[in-house]
Amino acid sequence: IGPPDWASVRADFPLLEREVHGKPLIYLDSANTGQKPAAVIEAVDDFYRHHNANVSRAVHALGTEATEAYESARNRLAAFLNVRSDELVLCSGTTFALNLVAYSWALPQLKAGDAIVLTRMEHHANIVPWQIVAQRTGAVIKVAELNEAGELDLEGLYALMTPEVKLLAMSHVSNVLGTVNPVREICREARRRGIVTVIDGSQAAPHRALDVGSIGCDFYAVTGHKMAGPTGTGALWARRELLASMPPFLGGGEMIKEVRFEGTVYNDAPHRFEAGTPNIAGFVGLGAAVDYLTGLGMEHVEAREQELLAHATEALAGVEGLRIFGNAREKAAVVSFLVEGAHAHDLATLLDLEGVAIRSGHHCAHPLMQKLGVGATCRASFAFYNTHEEIDAFVAALQKVRRLLA
Ligand code: PMP
Repeated sequence: IGPPDWASVRADFPLLEREVHGKPLIYLDSANTGQKPAAVIEAVDDFYRHHNANVSRAVHALGTEATEAYESARNRLAAFLNVRSDELVLCSGTTFALNLVAYSWALPQLKAGDAIVLTRMEHHANIVPWQIVAQRTGAVIKVAELNEAGELDLEGLYALMTPEVKLLAMSHVSNVLGTVNPVREICREARRRGIVTVIDGSQAAPHRALDVGSIGCDFYAVTGHKMAGPTGTGALWARRELLASMPPFLGGGEMIKEVRFEGTVYNDAPHRFEAGTPNIAGFVGLGAAVDYLTGLGMEHVEAREQELLAHATEALAGVEGLRIFGNAREKAAVVSFLVEGAHAHDLATLLDLEGVAIRSGHHCAHPLMQKLGVGATCRASFAFYNTHEEIDAFVAALQKVRRLLA
């Protein structure tokens, strides 16, 4: 099937119709969180209006409907990632997913003398949980560095994979540089050395067709709010043997088979890791989001975003004093930049007055900022619903505010 009509796709997103400061909104912050199509908003609304009940508890009709809707979302997300549903733990997002691996797999497994490998481009969500594990177990953290283009130095990374290394945690796609990492190749090298791999797929799942099973990793984390779904939804895929060996992270209802004061029998995975009432309506929305993205075709989404990235990169090259951070050969539709003589927050604030929403700051990646030698960058991130006209308007607005600040 051919690509969708992108103008009518854009019309599916009600929020993109609005104005800010009297100007049409140009939303270039999708790497932070994505906008939602009407189908997702309506699915959440429909759940609360017509089906709301708790899952896996009540035998009444609504209880059954809610349980089916929740499990159907799991099945659809599993199909989207091309993994088995019983290997997919639903949770609040990538931060939760990575902490689940840290607390349930790494804490019991690691000990003093072991090492964890991270990369320079990690989000704090893929650094801090491992620091907690390191502090509690006595394991050490080693960091793989980047080249000038913002790509991983693979030779350096493989040199770090010594026998003490038990775990490698890294992002599939960088939220700051846009770099797409060769995770399949890296996971193959890690597996040969018996290293367990955790991939943060937050910035990959929204932008490309994924076949998580074929990556060869052990854990893969995604977050719903960046893939057209509601906030507070996400998932951890884990290899079945690992999931089966892991103790629960949180205890409570839903995650048990039988509770006695003398001892409790835990439920099987993935339910063992889903204590308490989940974000049922959120997952109903995520199911609708996955259907929506599948309907567009992820190969078309990727091609569209690559076109927007190429356009933006070329247009930004005409802005005097502008420096782009990260020009990896394989790059997602994210452009981090600074303009000489202007602070990132001042640029973002003035752009906001022009209706343009970009992010400025450290992007939850302090160690990367330290390496780049800056405190903050501006980041424009594009999604399939953006247009070429918006990119031209953004660059024109940037020219205008640059002159104001220079
Ligand atoms: N990792 C990366 C690469 C991210 O971009 C983000 C979101 N900014 C996260 C982790 C955190 O994800 P969540 O919002 O689901 O906690």
